[in-house]
Amino acid sequence: MTDETVRGQLPVLYEELSREIAAAAPVCDLSGRCCRFREYGHTLFISRPEAELLLEEGLPEGAVIDDASCPFQIGGLCTARERRPLGCRIYYCDPSYTETGARLSERFIARLKELHDEGATPWEYRPLHHFLHEAVERPS
Ligand code: SF4
Repeated sequence: MTDETVRGQLPVLYEELSREIAAAAPVCDLSGRCCRFREYGHTLFISRPEAELLLEEGLPEGAVIDDASCPFQIGGLCTARERRPLGCRIYYCDPSYTETGARLSERFIARLKELHDEGATPWEYRPLHHFLHEAVERPS
């Protein structure tokens, strides 16, 4: 479990990021490719507090966990929108936003790291499916 320093600040960080994204106004054509990792050749990395928030309401029923896609994407849409991590919020496939996205990613991950430094949570940044496997294997 993570301490409240990071967890409590996640909504603040997400809100700040959403203002920056709104200002950058990248185009989303709802292709859903951001969540189909293997098909589009990318990996979603997230931190432990983000994983805990994402998994707060458990996994969708019948979730398949692998590095190919995100089990929260159902019918082409994210079913965990309010709880989705930074990487999901920053990623857009709009080519005119690539540079801005990279800059936002660098800045907000640095902020997230700083929050870890201020609290008692060790920095852990791993592919999404690592945390999902861990959650499934954890005894209830
Ligand atoms: S949490 Fe939502 S936005 Fe992020 S990869 Fe999964 S389905 Fe996509």
